Amino acid sequence: MYDIAVIGAGPAGATLARLIGKKYKVLLLERRELLNPGDSSWEKTCGGLIAPDAQQVLAQLGLGVPGKVLVGPQLFTVRTIDIQNNIERYYQRNYINIVRERFDCWLVSLLPSAVDLRCGALFKRYFIKNNCFNIEYKLKGKEYAEKAKYLVGADGAFSTIRRQIVPAFFQPKYIAVQEWFKTSKTQPYFSAIFDREITDFYSWTIPKEDCILVGTAIPVQGSLNRKYNLFKERLIKRGFELQRSIKKKGAFLQRPQNIKQIFLGNGNITLIGEAAGWISPTSAEGFSYAFHSAVALSQSIEQNPENLIQEYIKKTRRLRLNIIQKNMKLPFMYKQFLRKVVMKSGLLSMDIKK
Ligand SMILES: Cc1cc2nc3c(=O)[nH]c(=O)nc-3n(C[C@H](O)[C@H](O)[C@H](O)COP(=O)(O)OP(=O)(O)OC[C@H]3O[C@@H](n4cnc5c(N)ncnc54)[C@H](O)[C@@H]3O)c2cc1C
Repeated sequence: MYDIAVIGAGPAGATLARLIGKKYKVLLLERRELLNPGDSSWEKTCGGLIAPDAQQVLAQLGLGVPGKVLVGPQLFTVRTIDIQNNIERYYQRNYINIVRERFDCWLVSLLPSAVDLRCGALFKRYFIKNNCFNIEYKLKGKEYAEKAKYLVGADGAFSTIRRQIVPAFFQPKYIAVQEWFKTSKTQPYFSAIFDREITDFYSWTIPKEDCILVGTAIPVQGSLNRKYNLFKERLIKRGFELQRSIKKKGAFLQRPQNIKQIFLGNGNITLIGEAAGWISPTSAEGFSYAFHSAVALSQSIEQNPENLIQEYIKKTRRLRLNIIQKNMKLPFMYKQFLRKVVMKSGLLSMDIKK
């Protein structure tokens, strides 16, 4: 019997397991092959940018990102393109540009040896019997089951655990599509593109060595292919070189535009990271929230395991306030008229010599 079973070894799950793994008997199930990267058919779709908020939590955790995780170019500029208002602005902001799979492999490499990490393990379902969780999963074609006193869902935006607790509720509202293209010219900035014909959220381009990553987050009900193709046409017209596609991936994306969309769990089942809905509603930055929620849950487990969910709710008060603040900022980024006023003013923007 395990003390705690954590499903998902992304930034949230790997961080939680690292923080509690010496004191408790922890099982960590992960469908990706994070110990043998390249062997897995699963891949996390991600822009791979560590934003300043996430850099700050990494610093607080006493961590520095190793060179093998980084990819060039390192980015200091956001190029903001507003299609309907026909305005472009450049803003100074420091990102760490990384290879997402390598980042997750590195986080997993920090786990204490006592953590029982099983990669290639696809969690299927849980049921409760005699006050403990029976956890069923599949590994290399075989079905297995384990028991644990506490269950943590760190299984991302389309969390199987959350869907089992609250079926048909809190489903992600966005699908993100990302495509990689080989390119001969590197654009040394992260572009954020606002175009209401594509999405009420935003689209992006991110350079990765000799490639450019092109992505957009489209509401689930939208006509995905038509909008994605329109988005690419717009980029090609602006001079982006998108002829040599290497790969294309999709993923669900949470966007908590209302604090009620954050769901932390029930009793001895808790959710962290994007499984709980922790992600920025303005930028889809998720690393800082994954780390913060993992830290909050690790402290709750240590300090008040009897009333875990109440303690975790208490410890994430600031994170909820942060989501509320982001939502207050949202109209200035996503209402066409307000965005026009902000961008036209040139406030905090800079000129770029091309
Ligand atoms: C297209 C896109 C681009 C993004 N770009 C950025 C960015 O540049 N910077 C940023 O900060 N955030 C970005 N985000 C958000 C960020 O990726 C997430 O918020 C962050 O990864 C959340 O971490 P997590 O650990 O909660 O979940 P995840 O990283 O999603 O990890 C969940 C883990 O659970 C595993 N898992 C899922 N289901 C099962 C199962 N049934 N059995 C076993 N394992 C399972 C998955 O394989 C995965 O490893 C982006 C998101 C998307 C969709």
